[in-house]
Amino acid sequence: MTLVALQINGFKSFGEKTKFHFEPGITGIIGPNGSGKSNVIDAIRWVMGEQSAKNLRGEKMQDIIFAGSSSKAAVNRAEVLLQFDNHDRRIALNRDQVEVRRRLFRNGTSEFLINNQKVRLKDVTDLFLDSGLGRHSLAIISQGQVEAIFNSNPVERRSIIEEPAGVAHFRLRKQEAQQQ
Ligand code: ATP
Ligand code: MG
Repeated sequence: MTLVALQINGFKSFGEKTKFHFEPGITGIIGPNGSGKSNVIDAIRWVMGEQSAKNLRGEKMQDIIFAGSSSKAAVNRAEVLLQFDNHDRRIALNRDQVEVRRRLFRNGTSEFLINNQKVRLKDVTDLFLDSGLGRHSLAIISQGQVEAIFNSNPVERRSIIEEPAGVAHFRLRKQEAQQQ
């Protein structure tokens, strides 16, 4: 599974539709302070189901919608699209290409789409659960997180290991079964 492209439109500093194409290998994003490098990572986290505005460095979720700049007026909708090559079927969907899209409108309405079909947040979370990606996985390590892992207690450290080990999936299923 590889991330092929990312399209950001109306999310944080991306007031205009911006598409990133990722080549095989390592991609580095460089730019001056405040130019939007971390916003790219926030966009990836968000489309993969992040529900905490704080984790996206905001106060409320609507803060992620482009609020305008000196050259461009604010917009009413944020949209992020991720395109994966899934020939290896790491994503649990029998498709060679997988697209995940999330939208948020200023009135609070939001939607998730997988391959252009409207789905629930749970469907997006489930999609990535055993792929090693996912909004809580260590595929994305943000500033301060290395220290947090270093200082974590044994219980916290176990949960960090559980996701790549594939245990998190079963823990979630158990919780769901117990709630029913
Ligand atoms: P650094 O090198 O300091 O880490 P960075 O390149 O990671 O910087 P970001 O944190 O990604 O920068 O981007 C910060 C910029 O994003 C700020 O200029 C901020 O005004 C802008 N920004 C954040 N949210 C919005 C929004 N909703 N609308 C418009 N601009 C926004
Ligand atoms: Mg940054």
